[in-house]
Amino acid sequence: MVGAKDFTLKVTGREEIGPHFVRLHVNDGGLLAACGVHPTMWIRLWFDGGGKAHQRAFTLVDPDPEAGTFSLDFALHEGSASAWARGAQPGDILEATVQGSRFDLPESRPERVFAVGDPASIPAINSLLESVNGAPAVVLMEYVHEEDRELPVATRPGDQLHWVPRGSDGQALVDAASGAVSADGVHGNYFWLSCEAASVRSISKYLRKDLGVDRKRIMSMAYWRS
Ligand SMILES: Cc1cc2nc3c(=O)[nH]c(=O)nc-3n(C[C@H](O)[C@H](O)[C@H](O)COP(=O)(O)OP(=O)(O)OC[C@H]3O[C@@H](n4cnc5c(N)ncnc54)[C@H](O)[C@@H]3O)c2cc1C
Repeated sequence: MVGAKDFTLKVTGREEIGPHFVRLHVNDGGLLAACGVHPTMWIRLWFDGGGKAHQRAFTLVDPDPEAGTFSLDFALHEGSASAWARGAQPGDILEATVQGSRFDLPESRPERVFAVGDPASIPAINSLLESVNGAPAVVLMEYVHEEDRELPVATRPGDQLHWVPRGSDGQALVDAASGAVSADGVHGNYFWLSCEAASVRSISKYLRKDLGVDRKRIMSMAYWRS
C-alpha cells in the first residue's frame, strides 16, 4: 500500500459509449508516474453533492504512464458522480486521491476465472481478463437497461459472457452465479465479485460456506449499495 496522494485530473475528451455509460479521457496530473499502475487499479475521486464533497471509487481504463493519461468509465444512474459525469466536458477538473489498491491472483494462471459484475465493474473485469495469462473466463453481468448488453466487455474467444437482468433486487444474479458454479465445480477457479453489496455478500457466502472455496481464491468488493 502506498500512502495517500492527491492529484488534479483534467478532462481532455468525452465518448458516449452507450445511453447510460460515458467514457472520459483525462490527463493524470502526475498520478501514474507517482503511484505506478497495476491491473484493476482504482482510485478515489471527489464529487460535489449538496455542497459537500463525496468520495467515490473508479477504475483506471487504458492507463498510459508515458503519456500521463488514462480514461474513466462511468455507468450512469442517480448520484453525485454520475451527475458530474453527465455534464463533464474537456477542460473540467477532478480531484483524485490514491490510497493504494492491490491486485493479487492466487497463482500466475488460475484454471478458470469466474467474474460477476455489472456496468460499473466493466473496467475492472476487462483489466482482470487481460491479466490472467489466458485463463478462460465465465463472466456474469447484471444489467438494468437493454442497451447495457452492448457495452464493451472484453471477453476473449472461448470465454462465456451471460447477461442477467436486475429486477427489483439482485436475486437473479445471485441465483445465476450459484447455479453456474455448482454445476461446474470450483477446483482451480479464481472468483472475482464486483457488483451490488448484498449480491456480493450472498455469492461470497455461498462460495465460502456452501462450496468451501478458500477465501484467497475470492476477490469480493461491494461496488455500490442498493
Ligand atoms: C473498487 C471500485 C471501483 C469502481 N469502479 C467504477 C468504475 O470504474 N465505473 C463506475 O461507474 N463505477 C465504479 N465503481 C462504483 C461506483 O464507485 C459507485 O457506483 C458509486 O456509488 C457511484 O457514485 P454516485 O455518486 O454516482 O452514486 P451514489 O451517490 O453512491 O448513489 C446514488 C444512487 O445510485 C445508486 N447507484 C450507485 N451506484 C450504482 C451502480 N453502479 N449501478 C446502479 N445504481 C447505482 C445507489 O443505490 C443510490 O440509490 C467502483 C466501485 C469500487 C468499490
